[in-house]
Amino acid sequence: MFKNKLNLLVASNNKKKIQELKQILKPHQIIVLTSDDIGGIPEVEETGKSFEENAALKATEIAKLTGNYVFADDSGLEVEALNNAPGIYSARYAGKNASDSDRINKLLNEMDNCCNRKARFVCVIAISDKTGTAKTFRGEVYGKILHNPQGNSGFGYDPVFVPDGYQKTFAELPPEVKNKISHRANALKKALDELINVAESRI
Ligand code: IMP
Repeated sequence: MFKNKLNLLVASNNKKKIQELKQILKPHQIIVLTSDDIGGIPEVEETGKSFEENAALKATEIAKLTGNYVFADDSGLEVEALNNAPGIYSARYAGKNASDSDRINKLLNEMDNCCNRKARFVCVIAISDKTGTAKTFRGEVYGKILHNPQGNSGFGYDPVFVPDGYQKTFAELPPEVKNKISHRANALKKALDELINVAESRI
């Protein structure tokens, strides 16, 4: 638990992602600011070649622009039989204006003849101060891809991903369960130590 409250601006316009982050950060004294609280934040183009580069790019750009302490996450799905695709291109896998179901359909088509259904979600969190100095933290969760979508909660590829040790997809499991074991939760566990240091250095 932090001694001081910390204001953290989340550099994302993905409402579902923000909702998950808020839920995971709830027990800690962090005030999560979003784009709506500061009148909007620009989309930063993801030109990096890794989750780490993209997360750091988003966090540092927005931190320098707004003068806030900024938190960004870059995440995606890596499928072993597809040489780790869609990876950093997970959001753009089926084109620019595609929906979650378009992306899932494309993935299932690509995996039509695959017996190897092993996959992992990756999340890299970057935390940047206003000078643009950033640190990154990686979290992963391993599992397998089903042949058909199941469940309605969560977002993205959740309806086809069953985490190891479970019989249900992320879209069927209660959000509290996903938020305890997910790639995002694992990355956040590592990032929290850094956030505690920042909060305490501001006393
Ligand atoms: P970005 O991090 O905003 O570039 O996008 C990551 C993309 O990966 C999302 O649009 C989803 O398609 C996918 N993704 C990331 N995290 C999750 C998750 O927790 N569940 C399902 N899909 C996810």
